[in-house]
Amino acid sequence: MTLSKEKTRAVLEKIGEMYPDAQRELSARSPFQILVAVILSAQATDVSVNKVTPELFKRFPDPKALANAAIPEIESVIRTIGLYHNKAKNLKACAQKLVMEFGSVVPKTREELMSLPGVGRKTANVVMGDAFGEPAIAVDTHLDRVTKRLGIAKESDSVRQVEQALMDKLPEKDWVKDHHRLIFFGRYFCTARNPHCAECPFLDFCLYGYKYLEEQSLKKKKK
Ligand code: SF4
Repeated sequence: MTLSKEKTRAVLEKIGEMYPDAQRELSARSPFQILVAVILSAQATDVSVNKVTPELFKRFPDPKALANAAIPEIESVIRTIGLYHNKAKNLKACAQKLVMEFGSVVPKTREELMSLPGVGRKTANVVMGDAFGEPAIAVDTHLDRVTKRLGIAKESDSVRQVEQALMDKLPEKDWVKDHHRLIFFGRYFCTARNPHCAECPFLDFCLYGYKYLEEQSLKKKKK
């Protein structure tokens, strides 16, 4: 059994009270910059991406500039980010496709976005929501974890099933906002290693929280 629609919506309301300013933490000002930043953020922190994007956007302000860049030059700017070899290749190929097939304009649909090199469903969903306000829920590691701990989705659910569970239970108009709320809750409260279960407003129904607190108290007793 997973949480009902009503309970899920109540949980998101509460998280909204905890994080009223939850929003994208990647610095970017246009759909093109958002797309580039999100591609760079795969398996990297937003903080590390924000450190390189000012220089990257200065050197390559539009798809044409990035499409014409030499890969080593892109690499030299993003080398502090994990997987930078692959990401540099993808950024160039993505920019080339934007120039050749989309008139240098970032497309709005999931299908078109996913046709770009380096863009999977998660990246496409972030761009849809953040760049265009299109309803979409991008399931990253935080969202996957907290959605399962809270019982909104099942532990065995795939990323796609987690996305579907959230889409089924939350109003479409709130998808983008709720996506950011869940990310903040996972990033700053229900963290992977040290969730704040003792102070959590959801402890009365969160099975993971009870188990976690029991384990912590057993560990203390053993010391
Ligand atoms: S009780 Fe703990 S595991 Fe459950 S949602 Fe709250 S912080 Fe996360």
